[in-house]
Amino acid sequence: MTRTATMIPGRGETMRVTVSIIKADIGAIGGHTIPSAEVIGIARERVERAKRSLLIDGYTCHTGDDIALIMTHTRGVGNAEVHQLAWETFVACTEKAKTQGLYGAGQDLLKDAFSGNVRGLGPGSAEMEFQERPSEALMLLLGDKCGAGAYNLPLYLAFADPMYSPGLLVSEALHDGFTFQILDMDYSGGDRMITLPAPDRLYDIAALLRDTNRYAIRGIWSRKFPNEQAVAVGTERLRNIAGKYVGKDDPPAIVRVQKIFPATEEFGPVFGLGAFVGGDTRGSHNLPLMPVPINTPASTYFCCPMVSALGFSVHEGILTGPSDLFADPFWHHVRDQVAGKAMEMRRQGFFEPAMLPMSELEYGGIVARLKGLEREFKVQQQTAGAPAGSE
Ligand SMILES: [Mg+2]
Repeated sequence: MTRTATMIPGRGETMRVTVSIIKADIGAIGGHTIPSAEVIGIARERVERAKRSLLIDGYTCHTGDDIALIMTHTRGVGNAEVHQLAWETFVACTEKAKTQGLYGAGQDLLKDAFSGNVRGLGPGSAEMEFQERPSEALMLLLGDKCGAGAYNLPLYLAFADPMYSPGLLVSEALHDGFTFQILDMDYSGGDRMITLPAPDRLYDIAALLRDTNRYAIRGIWSRKFPNEQAVAVGTERLRNIAGKYVGKDDPPAIVRVQKIFPATEEFGPVFGLGAFVGGDTRGSHNLPLMPVPINTPASTYFCCPMVSALGFSVHEGILTGPSDLFADPFWHHVRDQVAGKAMEMRRQGFFEPAMLPMSELEYGGIVARLKGLEREFKVQQQTAGAPAGSE
């Protein structure tokens, strides 16, 4: 996309840096819970070792059963060596996970051979290249038990709704709004996307984003400074790769915050809503997205969808942090409320909307069950007496 260069005042000469989050579910202890310390240790050690060569900096953590490799470098988005580092790390983690009998060992490695990029192989990735601001502030989102559309509502509210994002009213840098790039996840023939500006096309953006199972925000850009990307979301869909349900996508996202973007604290209330999203147990239900601290195990309460947020400052590619953005005392109250929403929804078991609509279950076993029932359906005239087949 060609964009007119508009320099941020006072920035001067700063470095172009790439942030890459590449993550995968390599298996977990006693079900879909938490990776083993030994497996995470392998991931951490590989990232640390690469900091002396390929990477400038790195950080390794997990959200639920997903291990995230957070890496900074100068090699741009989609760099083959950075992706190869992640792939080989996950392969090494899988070998260890198998020796420990971890549940679902290597479950996100859907292909055998690396071919230059982890996209299409199973691991998820969110990447962004940008010229550092003097005080470059990032919020990295790591989701588990949810799909790539899980951030649609929080990001829509933070970047397009002044009721939640007062910076849109009070900051000249935000007043022009933001451009949303939205992916059609049901289209498997490539990346089918639409780019719409807010607030001009707000209702069109809303009409798409409301369907979190089909549409997902892929990226958001500043309109006042069109070269400045605000958001990159990892939108890989495992079912489009595998052709069947093999686990939820558990999206990572990179969000630049402060100054020409919404402030870190403006993301608090939008994630505090605990919006209902598809995911959780068997990837087949709707439950609220629970904001959790870094390194939280997946919940045994029906694998409620979760998201953690890591605040980092970046200077010349060096990461300072993280600040655990959903860990301060306020979030205990938020989590109590979100847990209440989840428990209320679970009371109705498999009845919609607690379980996802049939269109979302087409990759699961219930389709075979319904096909089996097809031959038992009969068109009957309205007559008195017992229905056919009731003897
Ligand atoms: Mg997961």
